[in-house]
Amino acid sequence: MEHIFDLFVNESAYPDLDGAGAVERLSQALRFVTVTDAPAPGAFEGLRAHMRASFPRIMAAAASFETFRNSVLITIPGTDPALKGALFMSHQDVVPVVPGTEGDWLHGPFSGDVAEGYIWGRGAEDIKQQVFGTMEALEYLLAHGFTPARTVYLAFGDDEETLNTGSRMMAEALKARGVELEFLLDEGGGKVHDAAAFGAPGVLYSDINLMEKGYADLELTVESHGGHSSRPFGGSSLGILSEAIAAITTHPFPAEMDPLLRRAFTELGDAITDERVRALLDREDWDGLAQYALGQRELFPYVTTTIAPTMIEGGSLAANVLPQNMRAVINFRLAAGTTPDRVLAHCREQVGDERVGLRFLQANPPSKISEAESFGYESLVQSMERFYQGVRFIPLASAGATDARSYEDICPVCLRCSPFLLPKEDEGGVHGTNERLLVRAYLHGIRVLIDLMERTLG
Ligand SMILES: [Zn+2]
Repeated sequence: MEHIFDLFVNESAYPDLDGAGAVERLSQALRFVTVTDAPAPGAFEGLRAHMRASFPRIMAAAASFETFRNSVLITIPGTDPALKGALFMSHQDVVPVVPGTEGDWLHGPFSGDVAEGYIWGRGAEDIKQQVFGTMEALEYLLAHGFTPARTVYLAFGDDEETLNTGSRMMAEALKARGVELEFLLDEGGGKVHDAAAFGAPGVLYSDINLMEKGYADLELTVESHGGHSSRPFGGSSLGILSEAIAAITTHPFPAEMDPLLRRAFTELGDAITDERVRALLDREDWDGLAQYALGQRELFPYVTTTIAPTMIEGGSLAANVLPQNMRAVINFRLAAGTTPDRVLAHCREQVGDERVGLRFLQANPPSKISEAESFGYESLVQSMERFYQGVRFIPLASAGATDARSYEDICPVCLRCSPFLLPKEDEGGVHGTNERLLVRAYLHGIRVLIDLMERTLG
């Protein structure tokens, strides 16, 4: 693949799609500073007004347009009440621009500039393009006389980047109404990788995330009064804390084959040329493949609970002064099948020192694993394959967290997949500087969404 465009096919589908209008509407959406927990005054209200004004057919077809905090839930009733609903979701909030980096942006982070073939701004990749792209797709279908048989829910959270409160409120409201969903589509994947780590170099794949790993922040604390460093009887708080961190990082969690990674290896099987991987797969040696994956940068998060010490505070400011109270934080991403309690028990056992306090600042178990043998997943793969050639779509877990998990009580098939594929050079823009989306990629993702809605809602 020379360029992401080499993967695009059927760009001539839906020739009357209003591309210029769609780009302008997204560009305007990017100008609302909907930074999570620190939005500009009126930003979310302005974005809502922009949605209402941009999609008159959705607004006319909707039975309700509700807000929960600044999250938005739109319900478009289907004609067949026997069908379970479909939820198309993502989030309106964006991460802040790192102070001091504003000048590094080639176009202002909230400019919404359209230039050099891109739409520029915070939220162009994560993930206002999915909010507006979803609405563009549905508006297009409604304009062509399409009437959904299945009830469509559109849910756009307002704090996905932090606490997911908005999505939990919307999920609870739907649950209280007895809503059951056939599937949901949220953000995820959206990148193209070489399958070398799978033993299939030269083969391209993009992942559709059918689960989210769990998340836990473990705080370690050691108390000390400090004092003169010439009398460090019993050790210093820094030494004790360092030993505790080392005890945890040097006793990693074992590698276990994750069910989705197993399926991914199986689906890529015919393309695997690496002899070692080939032999393990032929023998169905899943433990061996888990061990192999543990040694691959791209694959290791899928087979183990990862351990990342991220913060340390309280060291002494002078070489001859003992440090006082100290704390550190270790971030864990929990693999399928484990729980926060098991992670904590493991850490306590490895540290084995009562002077070290251990507690979770926050902890979520892994999500459920959605079924790949399902109408929702199979339809999504068909839609992606219709518009992207030369790339294999495979199921995997997501190492990060999204709003989708809020809905797992009412939805057995949670699909995390952004149909707007990013070229490698733009991946750094997600939460980084110069976030931008290719205009052609935006319009192509809208085509995927139109196709998916036609397949699943009709
Ligand atoms: Zn996001």
